[in-house]
Amino acid sequence: MTRLLLIGPPGAGKGTQAVRLAEAFGIPAISTGDIFRSNVKNGTELGQQAKAFIDAGDNVPDSLTNALIRDRLAEADAKDGFLLDGYPRTTDQVRELDAFLAEHGTALEAVVEITADADEVVGRLRKRALEQGRSDDTEEVVRHRLDVYREQTAPLVDVYGSRELLVKVDGIGEIDEVTERITAGLAARGIGPRDAA
Ligand code: AMP
Repeated sequence: MTRLLLIGPPGAGKGTQAVRLAEAFGIPAISTGDIFRSNVKNGTELGQQAKAFIDAGDNVPDSLTNALIRDRLAEADAKDGFLLDGYPRTTDQVRELDAFLAEHGTALEAVVEITADADEVVGRLRKRALEQGRSDDTEEVVRHRLDVYREQTAPLVDVYGSRELLVKVDGIGEIDEVTERITAGLAARGIGPRDAA
């Protein structure tokens, strides 16, 4: 089955593409950001622990994030495949995911990198701030999230590149166009939706 990751800077369109791809492939889209936000909204202990990090645009500590994703990947719907959006974000999280996959005798099939330059993502997130009112979409926090991405997450692209798992896609353009680029990139590696011939 299909086990995929989406990596890219905030505002590259990962969430939007994740939902579309997951539907096409018949696998759950798992977004650590969404899980954290729903915990914050519901006032859970995890939400209370994560909130200050999220609002500041910092990564939530690996210990919390890794525990969360272990639980989520152990759920029945993720047994045969999943698409992770926003995880892993640090080298420690890569180690954790590697360990989880090895314990389950399985592996990733591909890592999709969605690229977009800083000016583009700041513009997009400014628009999202008006539409959705996310507490971490202010310009200052967005700039910080971009720095955190560059420092902590961008190096993962090389890690997965050296494993020859990387499918790099330009995230600038219409939503449909970007989805097509991703599905074409995956198809070129022999990875297709479950109902494809
Ligand atoms: P996102 O929805 O992916 O943009 O994530 C929003 C925020 O949730 C991030 O800025 C972090 O504070 C937190 N977060 C999401 N995923 C992770 C992760 N894998 N590791 C640490 N923090 C995360």
